[in-house]
Formats: sequence, C-alpha cells, structure tokens
Amino acid sequence: MKMQFRDLKAQYHALKPEIDAGIQAVIESSAFVLGKPVTELENKLAEYVGRKHCVTCGNGTDALQLALMVLGVGAGDAVFTSDFTFFASAGTSSILGATPVFADIDLNTFNISPEALEEAIKRTITEGRLTPKVIIPVDLFGQPADYSKIIPIAEKYNLKIIEDGAQGFGGNINGKMACSFGDISITSFFPAKPLGCYGDGGAIFTDSDEYAERLRSLRAQGKSPTDKYDNREIGMNSRLDTLQAAILLPKFKAFVDYELDAVNKAADWYTEKLEGKVITPNVPNGFYSSWAQYTVLFKDRTERDAMQAKLKSGGIPTMIYYPRGLHQQAAYRKMNLPDDLFPKTVEAANRVLSLPMHPYLTERDVDFVVNEIIK
Ligand SMILES: *Cc1c(COP(=O)(O)O)cnc(C)c1O
Repeated sequence: MKMQFRDLKAQYHALKPEIDAGIQAVIESSAFVLGKPVTELENKLAEYVGRKHCVTCGNGTDALQLALMVLGVGAGDAVFTSDFTFFASAGTSSILGATPVFADIDLNTFNISPEALEEAIKRTITEGRLTPKVIIPVDLFGQPADYSKIIPIAEKYNLKIIEDGAQGFGGNINGKMACSFGDISITSFFPAKPLGCYGDGGAIFTDSDEYAERLRSLRAQGKSPTDKYDNREIGMNSRLDTLQAAILLPKFKAFVDYELDAVNKAADWYTEKLEGKVITPNVPNGFYSSWAQYTVLFKDRTERDAMQAKLKSGGIPTMIYYPRGLHQQAAYRKMNLPDDLFPKTVEAANRVLSLPMHPYLTERDVDFVVNEIIK
C-alpha cells in the first residue's frame, strides 16, 4: 500500500466502533447543529487546554474572524502576524477591513521572530497610518510560538493577543497548553490538523466570561441571549455540526491517550535517524510539539526540489509548507513589501520539506523515508 502523508484511514479503522456509534446516535437524535455532544466536547476541550471557556464554530478561519470581531478589530487597525503561515492568519484581518502587518520568522522554529515583531510594531507606529491592535502569533507545525517574549511585547505596546493554535493543539510550553496563551486562542478541526474532524470545524478558547458570551452570540448571527430573533449585533453563521462533535469525542480521547505520544515518538525516530543528513526540527527546552508537520530544511531550493521529486518516485508523499510568504501571495502583492524585510521566510520557503507524519506511522515507515533521503 502506498504511504500516506497523513493516514486518516488508519486512524478511522482504529476507532471505527466508537465513531460509527457516535454518528448513528446523532442521526437518531436529529439534533444536527450544536447538539449535546457539542457541549460535551466544548467542556472537555476547555478543561484540557486549561481555559475557562471553549466556544466551537464552523472552522478555524471563522474562529480567527470571530476572535477579531470580539476585540473590535476593523478599518484602520493593524494586526501583526507571522509572514510564514497559512493564509487565514492574515486574511481574516483583511476581511474585517483591518490591515495585516507581517513579521519575519526565526528559522530555528519557523515561528514569528519576537525581534522582527517588535520592529514591525515600531515601524507601524512611526508610519502613523494604522492603529496597532492585535498580535496573532501562530503555533506553526505544532510548536507553540515563543510567548515568553511575545507577551511582554504585547504589554509594552498595549496590544491584545490571539493565539492561532490551528496547528498547535496538544503542544505546550513547560506544561502550559497551546490554546491557552493570550487573550483569546483558536484552533481548527480540519481533517489534517493535530485533532481533526471529518469536515470543517473550529474552536475558540478564552478565560473571559464577557468574550465567551459575545462569541456565542456572534457565531449565531449576533442573537440576544434571551431572544434568538432579536439580534443585538451583526454576527456570522458559524456553528459546529453535532456529527463533527460526535466524531471528535472519540478522536480526542485517542489523541490524549496515545496519539500525541505516538507523533512525538515518530518525530524522535526521524530526528535521530536524519541527524547530520538534513537540518531537523528544533524543539527548544521546555517546548512540546503536537507535530502538525515534521519539516526539515535542505541546503537550497534545487536540492529540496530534487529530493521531493526523488521521494515521490519512491512512493513517498511530501509537502512544501509553505512555498511562499504571505507578503508574496497574490492577494497581498499590491502592498509592495520587499523580500528583504522577510529574509528568513524567503529562505524557509525555498528550503523546507514536510515529511509524512501521523500517529500511525511505524518505525519501519520512518526507516523507509530516511533511507530514501540518505540514498
Ligand atoms: C488551518 C489553519 C487555519 C484555518 O483553519 P480552517 O479550519 O482550515 O479554516 C488558520 N491558521 C492556521 C495556521 C492554519 O494552519
């Protein structure tokens, strides 16, 4: 059988009885949107990440947008985020009329560089066109961003933090869980994320009663808490399907019981066997990754592209996350941002390759990939 980049089928077969029973029960109940399993899931996830509230919604992109809406982000505001991330980390600010401001990364972790972040904030203040409002650090590839440096910067410039934990769920820094950093945090249940459902889904976490209450309203057209048909503000339609919650409940149990350990074991095998052959991911002391991706660096674009082609012909699927920075995306090219503001992002885009990674990867699979690379 062909090797999978992320083997969702193996996972389904491991959990089939529970998942099938959950789906069946939802169909019997006919409570298809925000049913009981959704509340059960929200309670479990909030407890797991160590936040007071979890509010689920339609997907991770909506989760970011809802979080930005709660913080009142709009036209004239600057929202700072990493240049090297999935588009939604920035697109959600633009949709609300705000302006995303990109900062370069630290090539050791692929996460936003706190130094570059502070420079971007200072530059924005000096230019005087936009009001700095929010920082969206991204927990890229499963590893939390460096909050011990980012939080003091947010405090210094009086900015809010929204943690984009779409890839970070399950990671931690010295035991403090991803999706518990900053004022509001979000995650995604897109199938390929660390904790994925069978379609789209997302969640927002916060310790603030006020934010949580507004999020529950905003995800349902801005309804009033007491009268569903008296809308107190303009919101979205972004709720979690009960079927997705029923699928997530057994998957979350497996994630906590053994999947998170399993991906860390697979990452250790890769790192041990690839040491000295390519640049393997760096997990700083005290950091724990949920390995949304296992991403290595090659010497340059030529070597990386040749390796990807070779692995493909050997039956090994790989991905390039990401082939360009946000400042290089067509939608943001009109900002005219020069590459030399983001040297590490440009370098990463040329050198990265993500290898097959999932909890059902065996040591033999890892050996197969490693041997092909060394060959
Ligand atoms: C996947 C992802 C999102 C968006 O999640 P969706 O559920 O696909 O909308 C946002 N930010 C990052 C970093 C992501 O990887």
